[in-house]
Amino acid sequence: MSITLNAPLDMHLHLRDGDMLATVAPLSSHIFSGAIIMPNLVPPITTKEELIAYKNRINQVSKRDNFNPYMTLFFKADYTKEFLESIKDELTAIKLYPAGITTNSEGGLSGFNVEELAPTLNAMSELNIPLCIHGETNGFVMDREAEFVSIYEMLATNFPKLKIIMEHITTKESVEALDRFDNLYATITLHHLLITLDDVAGGMLQPHLFCKPIAKRPEDRDALRKVALGGHPKVMFGSDSAPHPQHAKESCGCAAGVFTAPIALQALTKLFIENSTVEKLQAFISDNAQRIYNNISVINKKVTLEKKPFVVPAKYDEVVPMYANETLAYSITNIEYGKSYKNKDSKI
Ligand SMILES: [Zn+2]
Repeated sequence: MSITLNAPLDMHLHLRDGDMLATVAPLSSHIFSGAIIMPNLVPPITTKEELIAYKNRINQVSKRDNFNPYMTLFFKADYTKEFLESIKDELTAIKLYPAGITTNSEGGLSGFNVEELAPTLNAMSELNIPLCIHGETNGFVMDREAEFVSIYEMLATNFPKLKIIMEHITTKESVEALDRFDNLYATITLHHLLITLDDVAGGMLQPHLFCKPIAKRPEDRDALRKVALGGHPKVMFGSDSAPHPQHAKESCGCAAGVFTAPIALQALTKLFIENSTVEKLQAFISDNAQRIYNNISVINKKVTLEKKPFVVPAKYDEVVPMYANETLAYSITNIEYGKSYKNKDSKI
């Protein structure tokens, strides 16, 4: 059995910078048509100059591939309408991090006061710029996302024209919120569709599965699967693929992040086929995202996968992927854009 995906999109991706960017960007740009690029560099992307320079660095290392990096800014409550207008053509979304909640989020927002946020969020609503949010409080780790749902509701109610993307949702509470507000949408990762907390810490600790938000309970995973595999029109794929060098994962003080970019399409194909919902994968991997993101322009890329073993490399330079050294049932066998060519890259 083979399946061909049109213009696969990754709507939440960390590419980092420098040597790490050079390692990981080609792995995504080769197989995806585009990706929402997260702005949490050190320091984070907050100006037009930084955003354009980062986009150029991404284009440089992904040059051989047709790939759209959809750029984002790191949310600040003092962005003016004039500033947002001046950057609108370079910008696809703005990403909001509560302060200190995950990797490189120290400069994030420390409170959610409607009056303080109103000038920037009203300007974003008028300019039709979506707001992506890492939705966790600083409460107990298993409850952080569920506690944040009330903040999503407050924002959705007070800014009804603002498109709010609940990033990498992991709980049934977030899934339920989707249908209560017209302007709430969500990305879902591969790993949260596959694992629960048991896979991370139920036996020997698995540092390469440790991420924020942490994987939750089986009933949460079931709720995520229901909307993703069911092709719910308000959810889309966002890998949250977040590379760290091996020494930062396999250490005392393990960094949060799962590196899934090179295995995501293969594993998603298996999951959707096993659940007899393969006809919904196109919606989850691209069509919903195109619609939610205001008919974003996409590069026409067709990616074919077949049932053929794919041995996942142990490492990509210093980064260990999810399923390292394991054999996946599906491989990418052809990628076409403009000119057709066979995928001979054994790494993907
Ligand atoms: Zn992320």
